[in-house]
Amino acid sequence: MRCIFCKADSSDSQSVEHIIPESLWNTEQILPRRVVCDKCNNYFARNVEKPLLDSPALTHLRFHEAVPNKRGRIPEIDGLILPGHVVRMRRHVEGPFVASVALPPQAFDEILSGKSSTLVLPAETEPPAAQIVSRFLAKVAIEALAQRLLNFPGGLDYVIDEVCFDPIRKLARVGQPKAWPHHSRRIYDINHRWNDERGDNVQVVHEYDFLYTELGELYFVLALYGLELAINIGGPDVDGYRAWLAKSDGASPLYSGKNAPPSGE
Ligand SMILES: [Zn+2]
Repeated sequence: MRCIFCKADSSDSQSVEHIIPESLWNTEQILPRRVVCDKCNNYFARNVEKPLLDSPALTHLRFHEAVPNKRGRIPEIDGLILPGHVVRMRRHVEGPFVASVALPPQAFDEILSGKSSTLVLPAETEPPAAQIVSRFLAKVAIEALAQRLLNFPGGLDYVIDEVCFDPIRKLARVGQPKAWPHHSRRIYDINHRWNDERGDNVQVVHEYDFLYTELGELYFVLALYGLELAINIGGPDVDGYRAWLAKSDGASPLYSGKNAPPSGE
């Protein structure tokens, strides 16, 4: 078998590839062993996923939503005890919400003496650099394509041998070209709750699909906690996606067309 990224023989590879990182609540979207070779798998974890997961925006998101990494730890963030003590905030996955705060000694004295007691957590942070997000989307897009075609005869060979996927593969593998824009917008609130088919109240962490436009462009569209990110698989240009949105009254491909909710909702 060959790796869908480097195209080298992957017969000896042992690890499964998480399409969305485990540290973003993914236990289901997984490619079987050998679809991505161990070398590419490790490289992506360090050079494509980690820069995104460690960005302030994702660290804060994972803290606020209590999303643990694969070792079960939620990232720590800095808060502020007014008027100005920086404190390190920790929280735990298990049990009721408990946040432990590491306080500098003088803040502790001030709180005990009643001078200071308001804790604030930053609500907004800068989004991660566009280049980091685009490269991550490129990796996820190729893997999602492989996931779709995995069970079709010749499906994986098509993903590997189709040269029109080589530029976005290169973006995932080596980060070139540097400028490959993606489209980003919020389609629902981070804490939005949906009713699933059993009527349970659920939060959607990640969802993705492909959009084939009338102009023959193929887009990969991913939503993370309601932040919709779209990338053109064919080349560094999102004008076709903007045009599609304008024509579709701003609907998300994840919630329109074949993905439209049943009428009456
Ligand atoms: Zn590889």
